[in-house]
Amino acid sequence: MREIRDTTGRFALRPHYQPAELDRLCETLLTQFFKSTHGQIPIPIPTDDLTRLIERDVSDFDPGADLREFGNDVEGVTEFRPGRKPRVRIAAQLAYAERRENRYRTTLTHEYGHVHFHAYLFAMQSASGDLLQQTRPAVQICKRETIIDARNTDWMGWQAGYVSGALLMPISMIRKTAGAFQEQHGIFGPVASATAEAAALIARVRSTFQVSADAARVRLTKLELLAAQAHGPSLFSSR
Ligand SMILES: [Zn+2]
Repeated sequence: MREIRDTTGRFALRPHYQPAELDRLCETLLTQFFKSTHGQIPIPIPTDDLTRLIERDVSDFDPGADLREFGNDVEGVTEFRPGRKPRVRIAAQLAYAERRENRYRTTLTHEYGHVHFHAYLFAMQSASGDLLQQTRPAVQICKRETIIDARNTDWMGWQAGYVSGALLMPISMIRKTAGAFQEQHGIFGPVASATAEAAALIARVRSTFQVSADAARVRLTKLELLAAQAHGPSLFSSR
């Protein structure tokens, strides 16, 4: 990680990560987390374990919150409070709907990305002596369309989205899954998008890692295991 100027004006400096660095940090974090309980990272990672991970690092976790005050399309909110661990709330409609569990898992790991990679920025800001900042909590509001992949100009959202994919589909395991698929189908290089093979690969990743089709497609594309769709948004720049 290196620090660069924050052009959004929120902080003086902000962290810049290469995607490979986030992949490595996330897999190491999971390996350490599961060492005492499972010995290795269980795939798919049980939702209860993801809850345990976030509860370890926040002061207050509410998986069934009413977030309508922030807008109807808000799925997660992380609040950074001076001198305390962050507070995370996830929209009730995700937590309590069985068929939405994959989206719940995506949102939970996205918010965890903010907790793990961004809390220090707010702590530094409040330690720098800005009295207004010390009394007012900073809130990160995450809308539905930015949970998996935010625009490149939203670096915090982009990083949290990448972390979500890297936690649910750890780098060495998704490479193994995609590699086995390519071998079986005699494919060398990225699987062409919008083909039967692409659909089959996405389906395999969905069931192996218990993720939504969107989360699988975005992760595979960012890793260049799936070719980017023509005219789609650029997924390759690092943030
Ligand atoms: Zn976010």
